[in-house]
Amino acid sequence: MRAIKYHGVQDLELVNIEKPVAGPGQVVVKVAYCGVCGTDMHAYNHPGIFNWELVLGHEGVGVVEEVGEGVTCVKVGDRVAVGPPGDCGSCYSCNTGHPNTCANAFPNTLGIGPGTQGAYAEYVLSKFPENELFVIPEGMPFEQAVLFDLLGVGFHAVRRSELKLGDNAVIFGCGSIGLGTIQSAKLAGARTVIAFDTNISTHKRAYDSGADYVFEPTEEGMKKAMELLAHEGGAHVCYEAAGHSTALAGAIELCMPNGQVMIIGSDGRPFELVSAALGPMEYDLKFSFTYTKEEIHQLFEMIRMGTFKTDMFQILKAPLEDVEKMIVAQTQGTVDVARVLLTPNGEM
Ligand SMILES: [Zn+2]
Ligand SMILES: [Zn+2]
Repeated sequence: MRAIKYHGVQDLELVNIEKPVAGPGQVVVKVAYCGVCGTDMHAYNHPGIFNWELVLGHEGVGVVEEVGEGVTCVKVGDRVAVGPPGDCGSCYSCNTGHPNTCANAFPNTLGIGPGTQGAYAEYVLSKFPENELFVIPEGMPFEQAVLFDLLGVGFHAVRRSELKLGDNAVIFGCGSIGLGTIQSAKLAGARTVIAFDTNISTHKRAYDSGADYVFEPTEEGMKKAMELLAHEGGAHVCYEAAGHSTALAGAIELCMPNGQVMIIGSDGRPFELVSAALGPMEYDLKFSFTYTKEEIHQLFEMIRMGTFKTDMFQILKAPLEDVEKMIVAQTQGTVDVARVLLTPNGEM
């Protein structure tokens, strides 16, 4: 079968590998679509993300092709999403309701862990089907379900935050993760949602996602936001979804005393915190990482019921062999969509 192998920075190869076979407890899924995630683009463009060989793709959806002996969670023909977290189900984090922080998950996560075979391929083998396969509700198209990874991150961050009905929320970054965070915050009852992005082309999508105000993170934009938040001296919760230290600085600046800063984005560079300046405000700095399987069930149900909207997420379908072209085009901004979806088996 055809698959896309990652060798290193700007080095992807269309290869022919053995089609996987389901052993006991395992499941083979025929891939309908696989999203090209920002993480994959990062690994393509920058060293230090994946220092190993693998077949990329952790945002797959498809149809169960084969089930191994003893598998009861899915059956042949089921439509499923295949993706992180590849949690182990038995460590302390997993046993205490935090499978997204499972220390064993990373090496096992398909399309991320060293040597794994992700869904940039015609078929994908799930070794932990109980943990990494989500059955897609009846009637939900693959095009919606495939957004589970990008929507799940903001959904989890808002659930993990202290945001309450009537609070104000600020979101830095209106990329795919930011848009999911904006919508989640509004659905969670935020009174005013103020979003920021340097890229003006994202602003309409931010409004479509429920933002009340969208600004560029300039001095003027920050001033306008502070005027809107003047009553409490800042927002109750500020979400950093840009993955940039200047956005984190902005999030802290717009946080009210005793408010919360939820850090979703990841930035490899160090960030300076001056406790003498921040301590007197008793800011609550918190991190948020991926999502849980249970949250994907909640999200899928909300999408199915029409509560959670996905129409602001523009998609573009492309054959497997065009992946490199698509990553370059998205990096250069000549293709501006929420997700490029690879179609390893054509239209299914
Ligand atoms: Zn992803
Ligand atoms: Zn675990």
